[in-house]
Amino acid sequence: MYRDLLADATFHHLLLAFDSDLADAARERRCACCGGALHSASYPRKPRGRLCRLGPEHDRRFSFCCAVDGCRSRLTPPSLRFLGRKVYFAAIVVLIATLRHGVTTSRMEGLSQAVGVDRRTVERWRVWWRERFPATPFWQMARAMFMPPIDHQHLPASLLARFAGDGADRLVALLRFLGPVTAGRVPAR
Ligand SMILES: [Zn+2]
Repeated sequence: MYRDLLADATFHHLLLAFDSDLADAARERRCACCGGALHSASYPRKPRGRLCRLGPEHDRRFSFCCAVDGCRSRLTPPSLRFLGRKVYFAAIVVLIATLRHGVTTSRMEGLSQAVGVDRRTVERWRVWWRERFPATPFWQMARAMFMPPIDHQHLPASLLARFAGDGADRLVALLRFLGPVTAGRVPAR
């Protein structure tokens, strides 16, 4: 059950390990603007909805800043934990939106209550998944990988169903797949 997964520190450690690997890979590629070295410029983030106690290392979003004067571009690598600026943990934004279409509304409500998400937030996520996500440049490219095509009306459940394995495997695979949506490169000026 997904609620157990969110309460399992091992699951959170796994996601952190993936994020750490993605950050290392981004750093090795150096600054995309000028080729300069990247310095760590992580920032504090405390996403809501994680159902267990975690150490302070879980409250940082990996990010880098170019070391070259006059460039100083910021690069934030993909993440399996933080979905853009959303204040909730990425897995929650996937799972609650999934349960909305799934089995029963009571399961969705049970998880929403455990995590403390209100209906308006759930509704915003629904709009994001059905309207904004399909319009992203990432999805415009990535959608071609799926045959038959993904039904946008049932995102993210329709996407989650295409990954193999048990519930946890699928969720991790989907979060990895979504990584590029979460990354960003911002010039200093
Ligand atoms: Zn640079």
